[in-house]
Amino acid sequence: LTQGLEALRDLASETLDGHRMPLWVNTGLMADVARSLDRGAEGVGLYRTEVPFLLRERFPSEEEQRMVYREQLLAFAPLPVTMRTLDVGGDKALPYFPIEEENPFLGWRGIRVTLDHPEIFLVQVRAMFKASEGLDNLRIMLPMISNVQEVDEALELIKRAYDELVEDGWDIHWPPIGVMVEVPAAVYQARQLAQRVDFLSVGSNDLTQYLLAVDRNNTRVADLYHAYHPAVLNCLKIVVDAGHAEGKSVGICGELAGDPLAAPLLMAMGYDMLSMNDNNLLRVKAVIRSSQYSDLPALLDQAMNADTADEVQVLLRRALADAG
Ligand code: PEP
Ligand code: MG
Repeated sequence: LTQGLEALRDLASETLDGHRMPLWVNTGLMADVARSLDRGAEGVGLYRTEVPFLLRERFPSEEEQRMVYREQLLAFAPLPVTMRTLDVGGDKALPYFPIEEENPFLGWRGIRVTLDHPEIFLVQVRAMFKASEGLDNLRIMLPMISNVQEVDEALELIKRAYDELVEDGWDIHWPPIGVMVEVPAAVYQARQLAQRVDFLSVGSNDLTQYLLAVDRNNTRVADLYHAYHPAVLNCLKIVVDAGHAEGKSVGICGELAGDPLAAPLLMAMGYDMLSMNDNNLLRVKAVIRSSQYSDLPALLDQAMNADTADEVQVLLRRALADAG
């Protein structure tokens, strides 16, 4: 399917009536980078820094991290690369940093781990800054935020790392910093979070899991895991409105962002960017290019007022079929 779509690579991601929707990619390995550039990605909305950590037998040193991050930044420059600080715990375990818990998804993961280990956080952020020397495309994003204190603490650490490096003569820029909205509490504090940072990005994988109380990896309850659940859609809309009320851009980087059926809905909600696995990029672009932006508010209204995820799915399928 992707083959026939290759012609779309250099065409704009915009609706028939000229409304733009930037399409970014999620990366982890260098292999993702080559394919993403090949498919015309406009930036990296989520670079999962866990990946280079998972490929090793011990924590990578500051210099090892610097080299890996520099490769990402250089490959995309001048396009922006959003580096998420280490998001381990939950389903992502480092063999050399075991975490034994009864409820790992409700336990020590993401920002919670790195704020308890500021030395890990500082080394990582220093490596990101050093990697960005002479470039201006680094963005930093914080995972699993559930309150504003975590953001304030993380910002202080980032500032400390930045000041030290500037003092040492590094030619670096203060980057845009963002928060992932992937815990229900963050949805309802999106305004307060947005006041502290430059952008918000919804992690719809975790947000769906936590909102619906459905383990994203448990096949027994997989039928209950659905990002089209009207409760999830309502949260997605709350986040965009809150971010925009604070004048900040709001993107989405969970799997939903790469779902061609969902693209018109996310556009209608007002999302400023979709970040997805590169293999979905051209399909999503095809859907956007066949959509009429002025038709979308009616679709959004129907979806937001649906009672079930199935109903939403039927609506989105029909909209796509109508668009041809
Ligand atoms: C998410 O939770 O939607 C997300 C993008 O992060 P991850 O899948 O890495 O947890
Ligand atoms: Mg997540």
